[in-house]
Amino acid sequence: MKLATFIHEGKERVGIVDGDGVIPVPGCASMEDLIRTGLPAELPHVRIPLEDVRLLAPIPRPSQDVICLGMNFADHTHEAAKFHPTLVRESHAVYFSKHVNEAVPDGGVVDSHPDVTSQVDYEAEVAVIIGRDALRVKKENARGYVFGYTILNDISAREVQTRHKQFFLGKSLDGFAPLGPWIVTADEFPFPPAIGIRCRVNGELRQDGNTSSWIYGIEDVIEELSAGMLLKAGTIISMGTPAGVGMGFQPPKFLKKGDVVICEADGIGTLTNRIG
Ligand code: MG
Repeated sequence: MKLATFIHEGKERVGIVDGDGVIPVPGCASMEDLIRTGLPAELPHVRIPLEDVRLLAPIPRPSQDVICLGMNFADHTHEAAKFHPTLVRESHAVYFSKHVNEAVPDGGVVDSHPDVTSQVDYEAEVAVIIGRDALRVKKENARGYVFGYTILNDISAREVQTRHKQFFLGKSLDGFAPLGPWIVTADEFPFPPAIGIRCRVNGELRQDGNTSSWIYGIEDVIEELSAGMLLKAGTIISMGTPAGVGMGFQPPKFLKKGDVVICEADGIGTLTNRIG
């Protein structure tokens, strides 16, 4: 099932994407609300054509920072270490947070912040949405806490990311979290999921990976994080990016105004954004 957040007749709604239409879910103030309460038993016999709505990111304003994994593909770890000596994989998972005031939807423009950075980069990632509050969850039970999956482009200002001791600022500029186009529920994938993920910039294939290559899988991450931290329903965990980001090229291929970035994940869809 595909779940989207959208604007229809000036009102923000949550709904089930059904072919070229969307069935609005009554009584849900937001996607986070729907995740907490579940779908109602009865849905209305209303179907709005997708062309009559404006899609927002599925969780447009996450109530907490996105949790991200760094260096979670071996090939990306290698290219990152060549770009900057601080970008190395340690013997444990690399976690950082990404502050998101407003996630950019499919079709939205990403502000390149030319006053702040000249090294804007893309990172196509599959993000996991936690479905119910998770505390001290063991690996073998982790599957039951996954609500679904979406695509996140972990846009990064590389010189900002590397000159400060932590990634937070360089990953959190406004607009640096394109997310969507919707959430696909976990029952549509095996567990652990093996999702092909690609990124194209102006039509050129830059990244081509598969979530089966994650160094740390969803069950590792949920067990490790929830051992000492409540992961609330609705939490977004972005699982890291494969090789092929702009900083990995010689010379680097950073994004510039007008570039079109398409992140694609099998079974989820495509997330297209222009750099503004
Ligand atoms: Mg990333």
